[in-house]
Amino acid sequence: MNQLHVENLSVEFGGVKAVDDVSFMVEPGEIFAVIGPNGAGKSTIFNLLSRIYRPSTGKVAYGAHDLLAADPHRIVDFGIARTFQNIELFENATVLQNLLIGRHRHTRPNLVREMLFSRKMRAEEREHRLAVEGIIDLLDMSHIRDERISDLPYGARKNVEIARALCSEPSLLLLDEPASGLNSEETDDLAFWLEDIRDDLGITLMMVEHDMSLVNRMADRVLALNNGATLALGTPAEVQADPKVQSAYLGG
Ligand code: ADP
Ligand code: MG
Repeated sequence: MNQLHVENLSVEFGGVKAVDDVSFMVEPGEIFAVIGPNGAGKSTIFNLLSRIYRPSTGKVAYGAHDLLAADPHRIVDFGIARTFQNIELFENATVLQNLLIGRHRHTRPNLVREMLFSRKMRAEEREHRLAVEGIIDLLDMSHIRDERISDLPYGARKNVEIARALCSEPSLLLLDEPASGLNSEETDDLAFWLEDIRDDLGITLMMVEHDMSLVNRMADRVLALNNGATLALGTPAEVQADPKVQSAYLGG
């Protein structure tokens, strides 16, 4: 089981520090939340971890893997998957098709080899299908498996995004505002779901989230950011009691 180790991470956009010297560790099996007002740098941290952006300084390691030295396409091979703040699914494809795409984390390198080993490829394809069907079952999504994404309500699409990320069999799942736009019943379901994902699949969860009741209920630890910098890091109770957090974030 890998620990995520982030040290002195910074990135600037046009001279503005979007992330400013942030350090934290996420322990295996933990639910780790990142909170902060809009523009605090939360999504940027995810974009740095998934190598969409390159930091100006800092170190990021996942277990023995140096994430900043690695090819960005290999991040998923190290067991890291993410969802996006704005849902990014193939709208005209079905749920099953989107999940199969999530499963195919390696692009096929060599067509000739593929043809030579076509029997093996077919067996692999079956295996992918079985794995994806397993996730559909696990997450109670059988009833929407053949629906087009564009025909699904918003809450269901958010769930498909999480399911798709799970299809790459990650050990660390980064969730950017999983509860945004959900009603309270959907948020409750999400909390149960995420707890199952952590408890039954043993997946470490790191989530950006605005819903403080969800954070308090689920998170083992919380990182509070403001203007890219760390305000507080601790248990939900510790972070909420922190005067800096109260004035900057909670407005108290
Ligand atoms: P949030 O905490 O709301 O997720 P973000 O991480 O999206 O905040 O943004 C943090 C800051 O970085 C904001 O000021 C945002 O405008 C800026 N920023 C993020 N990505 C870029 C980019 N690609 N180019 C320029 N500025 C960016
Ligand atoms: Mg964001």
